[in-house]
Amino acid sequence: MRIILIGPPGAGKGTQCQRLVEYLKVPHLSTGEMLRAAIRAGTPEGITAKEYMEHGQLVPDSLVLAMVTKRLETPDCRSGCLLDGFPRTLPQAEMLDDLLERRAMTVDGVIELAVPRDELIRRMLARKRADDNPEVFSKRIVSFETQTAPLLDYYARQGKLASIDGLGAADEIFGRVREAVEQFERRSAAPGGR
Ligand code: ADP
Repeated sequence: MRIILIGPPGAGKGTQCQRLVEYLKVPHLSTGEMLRAAIRAGTPEGITAKEYMEHGQLVPDSLVLAMVTKRLETPDCRSGCLLDGFPRTLPQAEMLDDLLERRAMTVDGVIELAVPRDELIRRMLARKRADDNPEVFSKRIVSFETQTAPLLDYYARQGKLASIDGLGAADEIFGRVREAVEQFERRSAAPGGR
């Protein structure tokens, strides 16, 4: 299974992704984590990415795409993966489709973790991370709404989107995530399915 999890900053994507990779037994591809690792390692990509991330902006598509392409090429991604934080813009989604198509692969399903904006802000105030100060956080929400939210339509048109309610206990939400995955599995198994 190749699945994408999309959600605004603070939606609880990290928690659900951890559970989902254990459940699916596939590698977890988090571009946020890859970028933070590049920053820690002080690579040229890390140095460039840091500037953008500190300002709550998205890192340029070309940089992220190069990283993801390389990762998708490793053998452990052959039979599937969970994409977390990628794609985040329409060009990234289109390039991902291209990349997969050339390898006779496809995205099996996209899960949207939906959480209202006031709840995101309430959660942010209750936790702390370097890129979580209120000003930077608001910018990340705006960048989600303007650059990432259009992807929901893109995948809905492909018939791949499952939107789930991101409010409630982590277990309860994971129950919804699992239902979405089961729906993708049934669809892939159906005649004429992917
Ligand atoms: P969150 O989901 O909480 O926003 P992430 O860990 O996914 O956090 O990402 C942190 C930051 O890394 C983002 O705000 C952005 O600057 C950068 N980033 C991560 N993934 C991408 C991507 N696919 N394209 C561009 N920038 C990205």
